Amino acid sequence: MDAYGRVIDYLRISVTDRCNERCLYCMPEGYKGWARKADHLTAQEIVQVVAATCEMGFRKFRLTGGEPLLRPDIVEIARSIWELTGVQALGISTNGTRLAACARELKQAGVRSVNISLDALTPSVYRKITGGDISAVLQGIDAARDAGFETVKLNCVLMRGVNETEILPLLRFAGEHGMPLRFIELMPLTRQDVLREDSFFPIGDAKQLIDEEYGELVPEPSYRPGHGPARYYRVEATGGRVGFIGALTTPDFCGTCNKLRLTADGKLRPCLGRHGEIDLMPALRRDGDLLESVREAILNKPENHEFSGCYEPGRPMTAIGG
Ligand code: SAM
Ligand code: SF4
Repeated sequence: MDAYGRVIDYLRISVTDRCNERCLYCMPEGYKGWARKADHLTAQEIVQVVAATCEMGFRKFRLTGGEPLLRPDIVEIARSIWELTGVQALGISTNGTRLAACARELKQAGVRSVNISLDALTPSVYRKITGGDISAVLQGIDAARDAGFETVKLNCVLMRGVNETEILPLLRFAGEHGMPLRFIELMPLTRQDVLREDSFFPIGDAKQLIDEEYGELVPEPSYRPGHGPARYYRVEATGGRVGFIGALTTPDFCGTCNKLRLTADGKLRPCLGRHGEIDLMPALRRDGDLLESVREAILNKPENHEFSGCYEPGRPMTAIGG
């Protein structure tokens, strides 16, 4: 339990800060702040950290990045985590571009849920946001559905003037394929010019758009696939489910926060929207006390993020881990 009475039992593990896409909101153009490969945690070190958090009562884990599927040993990392005593849930967040080749292996290794970023269905809009090719992602989504994961969810970051016209097509697509879709408010985690006030599209506006098209959404407070902060609704007309992650506009968004983040270069980050990090490298590479470092990170978890002020990220989302 942290200083505010929240149970912290969820670790999001960034396995790399590298990515094969260049999403506007995640990786600033021309970004060159990559961690040296030698400073990336090895597979064994990642598993050591996960084992330490298990000892501290963590039960839910998600592999992320950067793009986690760029790591050649990702299946091995997943398998080693799943085999640890105490691990109850293991998921992965991916841009989906490389998922077709490894969905089955990930499932066999123990991954239970897959979150796939899909900010648009129109290929040109998808390319404008990510720099990538949507056809590889659509193949990845098919492969994930065929592989039989417990859940395959879609994630869409909302940007005004960029993808609000994709909201209803994405909702239809997700509904037709029986996948929950989550709309995420843009957080200030890249360069300021991408985050101009007029790029922000609140989840309330997305919800209203859906209400107008399909009738009022039905709240489903007990539906919680994965362990994240989304609040879900049922779209009665389609039978589909839609979630909203509104870090900036949801009152008391942080009140139910249950997680720490592990960066690819071995820092535990108590909060995505605050600068503090606890360096695990001394414990991992110079014989320090790993459990004590995890305890320190839990105790250092702040009550709230600082996104609402003039927050400037010390490093972009791709380097922190989504
Ligand atoms: N590459 C993988 C992917 O795209 O899903 C995993 C890492 S990515 C950083 C994890 C999630 O963070 C994605 O759903 C992405 O859309 C989201 N994300 C990245 N930057 C964001 C931002 N500035 N605001 C809100 N969500 C963001
Ligand atoms: Fe890469 Fe994911 Fe960031 Fe896009 S959101 S640049 S796919 S890490």
